[in-house]
Parts: sequence; C-alpha cells; structure tokens
Amino acid sequence: MTGHPALAIDIGGTKLAAAIVHPDGRIAAHDRTATPSPPPERPKGGGESSPGGVGGRPPTMNRPPERPEGAEAIWSALVALVDKVFADAGAPSLAGVGVGCGGPMTWPAAEVSPINIPAWRGFPLRERLRARYPGLPVRVHNDAVCVAIGEHWRGAGQGHDNVLGMVVSTGVGGGLILGGHLIDGGTGNAGHIGHVIVDPDGPPCGCGGRGCLEAVARGPGLAAWAREQGWRGDEDDPTGADLAEDARAGHPVAAAAMRRAGRALGLAIASATHLCDLDVVTVGGGVSQAGDLLFTPLTETFNTHARMDFAQRVRIVPTALGQTSGLVGAAALVFRASRYWGPSDKQ
Ligand code: ADP
Ligand code: ZN
Repeated sequence: MTGHPALAIDIGGTKLAAAIVHPDGRIAAHDRTATPSPPPERPKGGGESSPGGVGGRPPTMNRPPERPEGAEAIWSALVALVDKVFADAGAPSLAGVGVGCGGPMTWPAAEVSPINIPAWRGFPLRERLRARYPGLPVRVHNDAVCVAIGEHWRGAGQGHDNVLGMVVSTGVGGGLILGGHLIDGGTGNAGHIGHVIVDPDGPPCGCGGRGCLEAVARGPGLAAWAREQGWRGDEDDPTGADLAEDARAGHPVAAAAMRRAGRALGLAIASATHLCDLDVVTVGGGVSQAGDLLFTPLTETFNTHARMDFAQRVRIVPTALGQTSGLVGAAALVFRASRYWGPSDKQ
C-alpha cells in the first residue's frame, strides 16, 4: 500500500458526505451536501413515517416508479461533492475509493437500492465509480457496516477483536467484527441487528416482519408509539429529539417511550452478545444522542438478561467518531482490506 490517501464516500437518504482520508484514518478534507430528492410519496398522517437510513424495507416492497433523471441528479450531486473535496485536499493521487451506502444492495457488485433514495433502484454505483477512477480499487459496503468498521479501526472499538457496531437513527443497523475481521455472511448482509426480534407481538417492521428491534427503537418508531399513547397528539411532526427533550422534562409517556427503546436495545444486545461472545458494542446514530435516557434502561435490561460471565464482560459504549465514523470505515475498506474487505473481487 502506498502512502496515498483514499476517497471515502457516505451515501444516505438525507445527506451525501465525502472525505479524503489518510492511511492512518485522519481526515484531510471533508464536506457534505443534501441528497437531491423528488418529493417522497408519503402516506397520509406523514410525520416520521418512512423507514430507512439503515435497515428497513427491502426493494421489492412498494417499489416506486423508476426515475432515471432523478438517479442522474443524485449522481451529479455526488460527483460535484467528490470533486470539491478532492480539490480541497490539493488533488492528491489516490490509493482507492471506499463507499458506505444505505442498503439494500447486491454485493459486492454494489447495484444499490437505498430505501431512502427511491430514485436509485439497482443503480450501478460501483461500476460508475470504477469508470470514473480506472485502475483504482473501488469497494462499496452497507453504510452501517462502514460505521462499525470505522469504530473498530479508529473509534470506540479500537484494540478489541469482537465488536458489534450499531447505528440507531431513522433505522437500526449494524456491523459485526469477530476475531478482528468483518463478518460479511453469505450475501454481505451479516450484522443486521435491526431485524433481531425483540417482541414477537410487537409492531410491524418495514422488512415485512414483526417485532424487530428496528420497528421498536428507530426514531420514528419511538415517536409513533408515544403519539399512540397521547403524547403531542395535536402536533404535526414530533421527532425523536422532541421526545427525548420531553422525557428529560419528566413527561411520563415520553419517558416510557425512551425506556421502551432502551429495553429493546438491551434485549437485542444481550442476544447478540451471547451469540457472538462480544468484547465491545458501540452505539451511535441520532437516537443515541438521548444519552442516559436510552443507555440506562438499555444497561438495566442487558444486565437482567445477560447472565453468563462471558456475556457480562462486554462493554456497551457510545460511538467515538461521531458523524465521521462511516467515512473512516469506508476508507478502511481500502486501507485495511485484509480485515474488512472479504470478496476476492479486490478492484
Ligand atoms: P439518519 O437516520 O439520516 O442517519 P440520524 O442519525 O440523525 O439520521 O437519526 C435521525 C433520527 O434520530 C430521527 O428519528 C430523530 O428523531 C432521532 N433523533 C435525533 N436526535 C435525537 C435525540 N437527541 N434523541 C432521540 N432521538 C433523536
Ligand atoms: Zn425487520
């Protein structure tokens, strides 16, 4: 590996982010822009009702019509962002391109269909980037997996071999590192902690199942449950952040909603820890900003259910890299391929 930096890209339904990242994980230049989107076809009642970000509904459900112009508009915005970051860093020679993108996608070919980017359905992201960066390795993985990699390589999981990295935001996603290596599973989908079942009789999930962690603990799910119980019933669009604020102020329904999410996370983490004999679980994403409102019931529930000694040694911690962990993890697909990029298809 040369000392050249990598181009790192993070693609989500809300924002596109890009960075030039040094081989040691330091960020040389970094920028972001809103993901161009045609107005979504929201169900009546609106609010935070569409699943996505990480995890969520597979592309076969409620597939929106193809929007080729929309697809190219997003690609153009991405190219403009990437070119700006590249120029900001002084137009360096690159070691490769690493990308975290919202799922699902075919993998490792990375024809992507991010739930929150309806204009991209089967968009040939890896091929497009290869054409733009001929001769360079171009590697694309799930965005939550890249967050887990970033936290393992340079964040809160550093120095540990067995790490579950979680993102609790509009969706709930994750990535699994065991024995110091990313676990891809048969189709690149290992680590989908958001669809571990925490309540068989729980709410329907965007994946088509019921009672998944994501259905209970994603930000919009929390807010929806609280509204059903009468919280801010008269307002249009209360968010997870509003809920956390009210819970802190002592609103009983808001506090119960946060406890419910924390408990669901604690159950899922207890199961994952028993299954995988984890050292560290990192928890990030917008909902994790609720802090002790989430982490206290999470830890209590974990302690109730994770009774074996080997499970009790796990440390459950907030992410350390904040907004940049996905970019740092995407760069690690280039710089630390032996740990984080399993496919034989290295270019
Ligand atoms: P994305 O899903 O686009 O990656 P975020 O990671 O910011 O975005 O997550 C957004 C979700 O987190 C929303 O549902 C929002 O209501 C929720 N959220 C943001 N801040 C907080 C907070 N302080 N407490 C609880 N939920 C929050
Ligand atoms: Zn599910």
